[in-house]
Amino acid sequence: VSRALVLLAACSSPAGTPPWLRGLVTDAVAQLAQSPRYLDTERAAARAYLEGQLAQQGWQAMEQAYPTGANVYAVLPGAHAQQIVIGAHFDTVSGSPGADDNASGCAVVLAAARYLAGVKRGPTFVIAFFDQEEEGLFGSRAFAQMLAGTDVVAVHTIDQAGWDADGDRRFELELPTPGLEQAYRSAGAALGAPLTTTTTAGTDHQAFREAGFAAVGLTEGYVESDTTPYRHTAQDTADTVDDDYLVLAGELVGRVVTAEAQMQ
Ligand SMILES: [Zn+2]
Repeated sequence: VSRALVLLAACSSPAGTPPWLRGLVTDAVAQLAQSPRYLDTERAAARAYLEGQLAQQGWQAMEQAYPTGANVYAVLPGAHAQQIVIGAHFDTVSGSPGADDNASGCAVVLAAARYLAGVKRGPTFVIAFFDQEEEGLFGSRAFAQMLAGTDVVAVHTIDQAGWDADGDRRFELELPTPGLEQAYRSAGAALGAPLTTTTTAGTDHQAFREAGFAAVGLTEGYVESDTTPYRHTAQDTADTVDDDYLVLAGELVGRVVTAEAQMQ
C-alpha cells in the first residue's frame, strides 16, 4: 500500500482513533503511577503533573483547595452557560501506585480534554481531577459544592479503566441517567464496546448525584468481576494496565464528549 493511499485512508475516516490517543493515555498512566498518591507530598506531585498536562494542551489549570486537599481543574469555555464536567480521582490508597485505580481514569479525562480542543463547543466543559476519593469522596464533594447553583447538565466520572482480562471490550455505566446511557450506547455501538448498566455508587459520581446533578460513572467490568486484582495494592502498576482497553476507554469518552459539544 502506498503512503498516499494510507494518508487518503486516514483522511477519509475522521472518526477513527486519533494518532495522539495511545501515546497520551499510556504516558499519563506511566507518569502518574511512578508513585503512590496518598501523602500530601505525593498528591502535590500528582497535581503538578496534571496541571502541566493541561497547560501543555493550552488550558489554564487551576486548583480548588479545601481543608484537607485540593482538586485540579480547567474550564474549556463554550458558547453558552451550560456546563459538563468530566472528572477522575487522582489520589490512591497508601502505598499503591494506583495505575488502574485511578491513573487510568485520569488518562481518559486528559484524552477527553484533548478531544475537545479540536471541536467547537456549545456547552462549557470542566475538566477535573479529584483529590481524596479514597478517603471518602472528599475532593468530588468539595467540587460539587463549588458548582452548586450553576447550570451543570451532565457529569462524567471515570474510575478504573485499564483492565479487560476476558477481552470483551465491555464497560460498566454506573447509575446513568437515560440521556447519559443513550450517549454512551451510541458511542459504544460505533466502537464495538458493549455496555452494562450497574447501580454501583461509592465513587465520585455519587458526590454529584447528591448535589442534584445528572451524573454517570464509567468503569471496567467491576460488577462482572473483570476488574484488576491489584486494586489498592503495591502491584497496581502501569505494566498491568491493558493499553488497548485504556485507548478504547479514551475513544469511548472522547466520542461522547464530542457529541455533547455539539449540543445547542
Ligand atoms: Zn478509584
